[in-house]
Order: sequence, then structure tokens, then C-alpha cells
Amino acid sequence: MTVVGIVPAGGSGERLGADRPKAFVVCAGKPMVEWSVEALSAVCSRVVVAVPPGLERRPDRVAGGASRSASVRNALAVAPEATVVVVHDAARPLVTSGLVRECLEALDGVDGVVAAMPMSDTVHVSSPDRLIHDTPDRSTLWSAQTPQVFHAEILRRALGEGDSATDEAALVASVGGTVRLIEGPSDNIKVTTPTDLRLAEAILRDRC
Ligand code: C5P
Repeated sequence: MTVVGIVPAGGSGERLGADRPKAFVVCAGKPMVEWSVEALSAVCSRVVVAVPPGLERRPDRVAGGASRSASVRNALAVAPEATVVVVHDAARPLVTSGLVRECLEALDGVDGVVAAMPMSDTVHVSSPDRLIHDTPDRSTLWSAQTPQVFHAEILRRALGEGDSATDEAALVASVGGTVRLIEGPSDNIKVTTPTDLRLAEAILRDRC
């Protein structure tokens, strides 16, 4: 089994309002993306990072695409040796090697595994005029995180169909793959806003 890590880091991160792409904003002393690369490197044979075009200055970096799926596709294209792929967002610097290992262990018997949190908020589906259209049963809802791990063959097939999604778990499920949800930690937050960044820094500094 050859496990390759892929870190999509090609987003601009407009909501963070920083002077550089989100993955390169300094978080607790180093560029945010480095926390994820470090955690994945302990478990993967190598890690490929998809960065905004023009920033691929190191051999482990490729140019990202216009969407997250395109960025993952570009990174996977340079890792033909992968039999298992760990996809992890650069925007989640609180990932640990232990969580990546847990996801890999849960891959037995399924096509993919996604770390996720049971929803604690009620989720409403809105109509175009922002009225409540539907309220799904909360007990069936999970909020997806990363890492997301897959057998490489089905991930290649799911991405190869050229579709785009906000995560790879949805793409793999859409081609008939079985994707298991495992409960991820509540501190595995995604950094989107300045408040998220402050929270991530506080948790990372607390761990050191
Ligand atoms: O936009 P969102 O926060 O969902 O992005 C999740 C991850 O996907 C981030 O790490 C971001 O850098 C990455 N991404 C990417 N290429 C894009 C858009 C987002 O690699 N075109």
C-alpha cells in the first residue's frame, strides 16, 4: 500500500481578508499549510500540495485549479504510485497524525472514509427567496471535515468524470463508492474567518 497525501491549498481565502492566499498566512509561527504537511508526512510516503498558480516553487507543489476538485485532480495526476490517498485541507491546521491514522484504519471494507462531526445545529434548506423550504432530520446530518481517505482507483475515477464538489467524499459517493463517516474531533476546525484563525492559533499554542 502506497499512501500519498494531497493538500489542496489553492484557494484565495477572501473571507480571511489577508494579504496572501490563506494557506500561506502565518498561524502559530508558520505558514498554515505547514501544519497539515507535517501531520500528513508522518503517515504518508509523500505529500503533494496544490497551491495557487505561480507559487509552485518546490518539487512537492503543483499548481491548483479553479475549484477545489480541480486542485485535488492536479495533485493526484503527479502521484501515479498512490494506491491510497489522504486528502486534507490546508485550511485545517489542527489535524493530527493520529486522526489520519484513524481514517486509514477505518478504510478496511469501504472505498473511502471521512472525518465528520454530527451536526449540533439545526440545518434549514432555503428557497431562493430565503424562506425555509425544508428542515432535514438533524440526527442524520454530519458536518464533513478532512482528512478524507480513499482507495486511489475510485478517487481517480470520481475526479476523472470532471465533476466538481465541495469535497471528495461526495464525488466518490456520486460514482457509487461507499464512504464511511467517522467522528472527527471538535477542534479540527476550518479556518475561514479572522476569528477562526485566532482560535486555531490559540489551540496550536496550547498544544506546544
Ligand atoms: O473554500 P474552502 O475553504 O472550502 O477550501 C477548502 C480547501 O480547498 C482550502 O485548503 C483551499 O485552499 C482549497 N482550495 C484549492 N483550490 C481551489 C479552492 C480551494 O485547493 N480552487
